[in-house]
Amino acid sequence: MDLILSDIHANLHALRVVLKYARGRRIERFIFLGDLVGYGANPNEVLDEVRALPNTWIIRGNHDRACAFEDGDPYFSLPARLAAAWTRVHLQPDHQAFLKALPSNALKVDEDFVIAHGTPGDEDAYLLQARDALHAFDAFEGPLCFFGHTHLPGLFELDEAGGSLAFHPLRSGEWRSLKQGCRYLINPGSVGQPRDRDPRLSFLAYDRRRRRVKLLRLDYDFGAAAAAIRAAGLHVSLADRLAIGI
Ligand code: ZN
Repeated sequence: MDLILSDIHANLHALRVVLKYARGRRIERFIFLGDLVGYGANPNEVLDEVRALPNTWIIRGNHDRACAFEDGDPYFSLPARLAAAWTRVHLQPDHQAFLKALPSNALKVDEDFVIAHGTPGDEDAYLLQARDALHAFDAFEGPLCFFGHTHLPGLFELDEAGGSLAFHPLRSGEWRSLKQGCRYLINPGSVGQPRDRDPRLSFLAYDRRRRRVKLLRLDYDFGAAAAAIRAAGLHVSLADRLAIGI
């Protein structure tokens, strides 16, 4: 089984719950879809944990880019821009070098699937609607792409033979089988800053042999993560949003 993790955003409290889940289970690969840092108060500790894991596949997200490079994102909102500047100042140099060296969109993990941050064609694009998904399906080969960036979990299923494209929400704790002959774009949601009005952290288990995925929503101490954001002097909106999942 692989774990698919996206948008941790320097939220150590959330990441530790995921790593606790992973302990004692046979996890073959840890796959990260970008935005390890940015917004949250613990970028160094998150990178310590991520870099210590075995069998990782990691691509950068737009926040990793903005936290690694001075001119990484001129289009950020004010809280995001301030958080990126704060992270650049506080990141240990070796972690900053690690972020700079991360591969950008998109990465082929094996014959079965690719990973992307925004979409396979554009790390900054938000894949929200069916028409976005149609473009995204054109930008990769093969049956499956995991993507992040929107922080919204769910699955687009393209049946080319049947001529249909559908979005399906995913229910926590339920396996969903991937159909032979269909292609998929699947978002695991966000570990560190969920935005679907459910504050529980979100990630995905992928069972390659049985071709199925399971969304996992777990409780974590978002109050402690918010307190760390306030104590660091980051924008207060970044703390407040964690309790309501926006
Ligand atoms: Zn993000």
